[in-house]
Amino acid sequence: MKTIAVIFDFDDTLIPDSTTAFLASRGINTQKFWQDDVRELVGNGYEPSLAYLNKIIDLSGDGLPLGNLTNADLKQFGRQLDSGFYPGLNAMFKDLRAIVRTLSADITVEYYIVSGGLQALIEGSPFVNKNFTAVYGCQFAEHPETGRIKNIKRCVTFTEKTRCLFEINKGIRPEQALQNQYMVNTDIPLKHRRIPFKNMIYVGDGLTDIPCFSLVQRMGGLSFGVFNPQEQASAKRALIEFLHTDRVVSMHAPKYRKNDELGSLLRAAVSSIAARAMLERHEAESD
Ligand SMILES: [Mg+2]
Repeated sequence: MKTIAVIFDFDDTLIPDSTTAFLASRGINTQKFWQDDVRELVGNGYEPSLAYLNKIIDLSGDGLPLGNLTNADLKQFGRQLDSGFYPGLNAMFKDLRAIVRTLSADITVEYYIVSGGLQALIEGSPFVNKNFTAVYGCQFAEHPETGRIKNIKRCVTFTEKTRCLFEINKGIRPEQALQNQYMVNTDIPLKHRRIPFKNMIYVGDGLTDIPCFSLVQRMGGLSFGVFNPQEQASAKRALIEFLHTDRVVSMHAPKYRKNDELGSLLRAAVSSIAARAMLERHEAESD
């Protein structure tokens, strides 16, 4: 059985920023949170993901703006995300499965999320649970008695994202990786890896996606960049950071319907990877 992996960043790729939506729902001034507080920490040398995770912990506790925040609270908020996904995702996931099924019974497609956002929040979404094989995101540890978030357990930085791709590549499940953090270093010959990079498609929007864009492209897979044309800053950043360096195949608005640019390209990409996988099998069999 051959598997094609379509791997997505989460925030601003599949849905508007979910951490911002959560903080806003708790009355936090999100402009100040990102532009002043988190930026100040980053200016002081904090890794950006660690900066925002620490700020959330700082705002949690008795009498503080986020109160006694738990992972269950985050998950609960995640349930509301389903109405906010960018258009066409549900139909596209079905279409990609159908495209592969029509070509061969020996090929499947799996969907993954690799995000610097909050895993508990993302996993609260029924849509995510239904469609994705695994979610990689930042995690908080809880106080054993109160359940209150207390420490950063896992932080998905921009380079950590590539580690997740290698775990997918080698067929290491997230729960196995949590048991043994060094499992990703297991030496598995290229031909025995569960999902070769050339069978991967990566879709992302931000600076944290650049190492994944590069890795997937370099190893023969396909990368697609997403930017929101309505947001001046985002469009500009996209052009400067991505297009000029040839890191991504192309940049598109986050719309996934059949007739949308990105939606049609992803359908074509999966179709061509599946066709190539069939040819390779044919050649191997006739050797
Ligand atoms: Mg993003």
